[in-house]
Amino acid sequence: MRQGITPAEALRIVLEHAPPLGAETTSVSDARGRVLAEGVRSARRLPPSDNSAMDGFAVRSADLASASAERPVTLEVIGEIPAGGSSELTLRAGEAARILTGAPVPPGSDAVVMQEDTARDGDRVTIGISPQPRAHIRDAGEDVEIGDQVLEAGALVGPAEIGMLASLGRSVVSVHRRPRVAILSGGDELVEPDGDTSGGRIVASNSYSIAAQCLEVGAEPVYLGIARDTPEDIERHLRAGLRADVIVSSAGVSVGDRDYVRGVLEKLGCSLLFWGVKMKPGYPLTFGRFEAGDGPIAFGLPGNPVSAMVTFEQFVRPALRKMAGRRSLFRPTVRARLADRLHKQSDRLHFVRVDLEREGDEIVARSTGNQSSGVSRSMLLARGLLIFPAEIHELRKGDTATVQILDEDFLAPPTPAFS
Ligand code: AMP
Ligand code: MG
Repeated sequence: MRQGITPAEALRIVLEHAPPLGAETTSVSDARGRVLAEGVRSARRLPPSDNSAMDGFAVRSADLASASAERPVTLEVIGEIPAGGSSELTLRAGEAARILTGAPVPPGSDAVVMQEDTARDGDRVTIGISPQPRAHIRDAGEDVEIGDQVLEAGALVGPAEIGMLASLGRSVVSVHRRPRVAILSGGDELVEPDGDTSGGRIVASNSYSIAAQCLEVGAEPVYLGIARDTPEDIERHLRAGLRADVIVSSAGVSVGDRDYVRGVLEKLGCSLLFWGVKMKPGYPLTFGRFEAGDGPIAFGLPGNPVSAMVTFEQFVRPALRKMAGRRSLFRPTVRARLADRLHKQSDRLHFVRVDLEREGDEIVARSTGNQSSGVSRSMLLARGLLIFPAEIHELRKGDTATVQILDEDFLAPPTPAFS
C-alpha cells in the first residue's frame, strides 16, 4: 500500500481501478444522461421520401420556365396532399397539386412553389415565379441514409440523441450500467436526522451529502446505515455493500484508537492501494479494491463533512463518471483573481472553498471564511474549490489561481446570448 501520495497520484490509481461498467438495456425515454454502450446504425432513411418543405403547390418546374410576375402561368389543381397523406396522384404537364409541409411530393413533380407566391381560384392556380428544380423539396435520406452510423458508442445521451433514436424507431438502447454505491457512516456519536442529539451526538449527515453527490452524477446510492465503532459492527454493515460497484464509507480511517475501517476492509478481502493523500482537507483518504471476481472498489473518506465532500469531489466523482462510461470526468475550471491573501504552512495541496464573482471580464475568488474541515458552512457557500498548490505557501491578493467550478450555474451568463 502506498502512503502519503500526491492527489495526482491518488487520482491516477483510482481511475486505473474504475473501468466502465458493462451494458444494460434501457428504454429510450429513460436514457437521458446515460452513455451508449452500442453504436447505432440506421435501418431507415430520414426523411423516408422526398417531401415538401412548405405549404404550397407541387409543380413541374418546366411548366413554369417562362413564368414571371408580368407573365404568370396558370396550372390545373388536380388534388391535395396533406402531411402524412399518400397520394395516388401523378402530375402531368400543366398540372399542380396542393401540398402541405412534410407531405410526400407526388411523382411527376420536381418543385414546390410556396403558397405566398400563388393565387388560387377554384381548381386553378396562377403562379408568377419560375422555381428551380428541387425548390422547397427535402430529399429522401438527406438527414440519414440506411446504414449510416448515426451515434457512436460512448456518446452521452441527451435530448438530440433521444429524438434521433425515436426517429429511428428504437424503443430500447444499450447503455453502460449506472454505478451502485453503498454508503456507510461510522461512529458511536452518529444518529439519523430524526435521532436524539443529546450527549454530544450528531447527525450522520455525510451519508446524505454523499448520496446526493452520487445522484448528481447519475449513480445509484444504497444506504448501509450507521455502524458503531466496533470492528464487528463495521464488518456487518460493510458486508451488505459487497455486491455494490463502489463502497463509500466515511470516518474511522484516521489514526484514532477506534479507526477500524481500514482493518475491516482488509479482513473482508479488500487490498488497500493507498492511505493518506497530501491534501487538505482530506489527508486520511483510503482506497482499495476487492480482488474477488467483480468485487467493488472501496473509498474510506475522512469523517469531517467538508473532508468527505471534497474527497468525494476529487476522487469518487471522476471514478463514478468513468464507470458510467462518461468521457469527460472532471469539473470545469476557470482562472480567478484572489480577493485576499492566502497562506499556508503545509506542503499539501489545499482545496480552498471560495465564493466567485464576476468583475468585468475577470472572475474574483474570495475565501468562504473559516476553512476548518468541520465547518460545513464553508462548503455551503462555496461556488468553487481553489487549487492552492502544494509547493506554494503564499498567494497574494490579486494573484490568479485555478478554481474548480462546483456551481456550474456560475458559468451561466446573466443575460441572453443574443440581443
Ligand atoms: P473520525 O474520522 O471518526 O475521527 O471522524 C471525524 C469527524 O467527523 C468527527 O468529528 C465525527 O463526528 C465526524 N463525522 C464522522 N462521520 C460523520 C458523518 N457520517 N456525518 C457527519 N459527521 C461525521
Ligand atoms: Mg469516529
